[in-house]
Amino acid sequence: MVALSLILAAAAPRNLAIVDVNVIDVRAGAVRNHQTILTSLDRIVWVGDAKKARIPRGTTRIDGRGRYAIPGLWDMHAHAFDRDSMALFTANGVTGARIMFGNPSHLAWRKAFDTGSAIGPRLRVGSPIIDGPQPIWPGSITVGNAEQGRAAIEGLVGKGYDFAKVYSLLPREGYFAIVETAKKLGMPFEGHVPNSIDPSEASEAGQRTIEHLTRVAWECSGREPEVRRFAAENTPAGTLKARALVVDSYDPRRAEGLYATFKKNETWQCPTLTVLRAMAFLDQEAFRADPRVKYVNPLFRASWDPTKDFRLKARTPEDWAVAKRAYRQSLRIVGEMHQAGVPLLAGTDCGNPFCFAGFSLHDELGLLVQAGLSPAAALRTATLNPAQYLGQTSTMGTLEVGRVADVVLLDRNPLANIDATQKIRVVVQRGRLFDRKALDRILAQTEVKPLTAPPSGGFCDH
Ligand SMILES: [Zn+2]
Repeated sequence: MVALSLILAAAAPRNLAIVDVNVIDVRAGAVRNHQTILTSLDRIVWVGDAKKARIPRGTTRIDGRGRYAIPGLWDMHAHAFDRDSMALFTANGVTGARIMFGNPSHLAWRKAFDTGSAIGPRLRVGSPIIDGPQPIWPGSITVGNAEQGRAAIEGLVGKGYDFAKVYSLLPREGYFAIVETAKKLGMPFEGHVPNSIDPSEASEAGQRTIEHLTRVAWECSGREPEVRRFAAENTPAGTLKARALVVDSYDPRRAEGLYATFKKNETWQCPTLTVLRAMAFLDQEAFRADPRVKYVNPLFRASWDPTKDFRLKARTPEDWAVAKRAYRQSLRIVGEMHQAGVPLLAGTDCGNPFCFAGFSLHDELGLLVQAGLSPAAALRTATLNPAQYLGQTSTMGTLEVGRVADVVLLDRNPLANIDATQKIRVVVQRGRLFDRKALDRILAQTEVKPLTAPPSGGFCDH
């Protein structure tokens, strides 16, 4: 990608001044008018009243008048299969991403992005998926018993991954051996709640994050024994009955107890409403008529056909109807979790059908607002909350002195309407300036290009 490297060369880090801008204070959920932000290399070095700003000579000035500055956004649940497509995150103001099915190439990309030899976000990289003996995705680490659970974690130590990713088919003894070993060796474990475990157990065991609300609605069901009985039939009809009953038997008292457990243990929830919605509405042509598919490799696009996806191809109209009801229940659950003080992270599961690298983080923010979060609270799930989750609030997540120079300049006020996060004028990433022209060049360069190698890694199962 010669052109992407030219864009990069034009964007070497330099001293920047975003002059007379409206700064969004994500912590307070407030706008601070007429501010100036100074950055030097990759840090914010001054923020304050525009009239009092002393802008050093040689600083590049960016006109902030009438515009709104927010911290760079994070997509906390992402999959990525080729390095150049990660420039789409930058082009969408997404300056950080948590990779949920890591492999050694992601570790190499992280280095390339950090050193500035390629365009892409800051990465937190998870291990390859750790699943049961018959894993859902090829490339997973398989665990069938306690011994293999211990070995899985020991084998990851020192490899460069930031956390171990646990998955749906882990047996109980394997899961608890992972828990014990991970704690002993100081490795966080994050991911799905396995089918053999209740979300409250995962929370008490110290799982850092729960993705896609896995098994949350099950535990909130007032008729769980019946749900289990239907599911154990292991037939399409039984599964459908189980799913429908999960929606119909939601018990607010059980839910309250579970959310209190999440809050007490600071178990981060990454609901990924984007992929939950896609998995419920893929049968609709109107939903699939999304112009952003032009940024998706044709090889992938073919796999996005619901009549070919192994998770979806056997679905009947009744299955799709229940999926839509389950999705609406997920919105309700997210709203209630937020009310209950459960910590939330914005994530998309991009890579899955109609979940787009970079673009879909903005969809997720909109869906979180639909679920009942204020625009400020939704913004926090992609800025301050990721910083809290990473234990890095003194260096990221807000626009204050000492934080990284990751800034997105918007044409409109996102606290008035969350859609404004899509009206991007400028992205500053690690102190590098990407103006609208540079962002458009990245988009043009990333549009439909052939993959040189078949995709590796995998997605999530729903
Ligand atoms: Zn995923």
